Amino acid sequence: MKPNLPKTFAELNLIEPLKIALSETGYTKPTPIQAEAIPLLLEGRDLLGCAQTGTGKTAAFALPILHRLVLADQKTTPRHARVLVLTPTRELAIQVHQSFEIYGKNLKLKYAVIFGGVGQSPQVKALSQGVDVLVATPGRLLDLIEQGFVKLSQLEVFVLDEADRMLDMGFVHDINKILKLLPKKRHNLFFSATMPPVIEKLAQSILVNPVRIEVTPVSSTAELIAQNVMFVDRENKRPLLKYILEDKKLSRVIVFSRTKHGANKIVEFLAKFEIIAEAIHGNKSQSARQKALENFKAGKIRVLIATDIAARGIDIDDITHVINYDLPNESESYVHRIGRTARAGASGIAISFCDADEKPFLKDIEKLIGKSIPVIESHPFHSQKVVDARLISSSRAKAIIDGENTLRGGRSSNNRRFPRNNSRPKQTSPKK
Ligand code: AMP
Repeated sequence: MKPNLPKTFAELNLIEPLKIALSETGYTKPTPIQAEAIPLLLEGRDLLGCAQTGTGKTAAFALPILHRLVLADQKTTPRHARVLVLTPTRELAIQVHQSFEIYGKNLKLKYAVIFGGVGQSPQVKALSQGVDVLVATPGRLLDLIEQGFVKLSQLEVFVLDEADRMLDMGFVHDINKILKLLPKKRHNLFFSATMPPVIEKLAQSILVNPVRIEVTPVSSTAELIAQNVMFVDRENKRPLLKYILEDKKLSRVIVFSRTKHGANKIVEFLAKFEIIAEAIHGNKSQSARQKALENFKAGKIRVLIATDIAARGIDIDDITHVINYDLPNESESYVHRIGRTARAGASGIAISFCDADEKPFLKDIEKLIGKSIPVIESHPFHSQKVVDARLISSSRAKAIIDGENTLRGGRSSNNRRFPRNNSRPKQTSPKK
């Protein structure tokens, strides 16, 4: 942490009801982003935060926002919101809303959350008298605005959370539409895990003379995460996963699958061996996703199979292992994925399965994180064929893998496989 930054919550001088709520959370000291951002946000500065989930960024913005709302002492009017937090996913919206409820539990403020995929009536009802803090996903927000159930003309604070993921998910037009509805004078906060030029440009169009805070840049993976890779032929990935999960020490595991279909298949396969897992992905209903998450949080199931988008923003402590069943073809997703473990100072383990076609992705990831990931060979499915595989470009690898996924869906007859090198696959014997 930089010198002269507050080292305790007491030094932040937050109003008493917030201090009391904080004391009940069990947090002992501010995280680096909290120590840096809270004093500046209390002054009303616009903020550009380069931080990912897991850094404590929600409290970093929720606490000063709540503090200022109370001091400003404005009344909310029907259908209006004083603060808008836009998030890319429903899960993140729910979590951010919960955080406001926790930190703001001793305040007489109203918090609401709206997202798609569920009926709008309870959301409309929650908004009818106006709210202080509205957490929303862009699509449902615009829907309700168009129907006249929400108005943003009295907004005091605008927070754009996970801006990079918003753009990845195609929300750029929705964001621009929402921006046009906001009053010119407002307090702006902008968070993104990565800052490619397109995000910088969006930030510039929203923020006025912002302070910039960067914590754990995306290219650095947490020191506390032990990262490993296992070379395995594609057809052996499922047995390898079963083999790993048989060890009960893996008590809370997220397995990442590239596709929704793949996630379901993994659940079915593990069920045959009485390893109970649940999948969360975009084809599951909102209630099924919530239920799976709750079961996982409560420890009723120890394995959650997730796709990248569904897992985004999931806030679950004590995840012991992250398993990349498929390696992501965007290196930054790797950093997001493994960031699910080793939260708030705990340690965690990330294991990545890599088949021959995925080797280019592994190379890209190692380039991004600036180190090579140790290979574990001591498992029964270690593949020399993967070790020897000739490296092709990652875009070519992606095309091949996408083609194969299409095939599995039965939509293509082009069954050309990645031309592997000529060495015959060696049968590796189980090692201890
Ligand atoms: P976030 O980055 O906002 O998703 O927060 C990640 C996790 O850190 C959540 O589980 C928070 O409850 C937790 N957290 C936030 N602030 C602190 C803190 N100062 N000390 C310990 N844990 C914290």
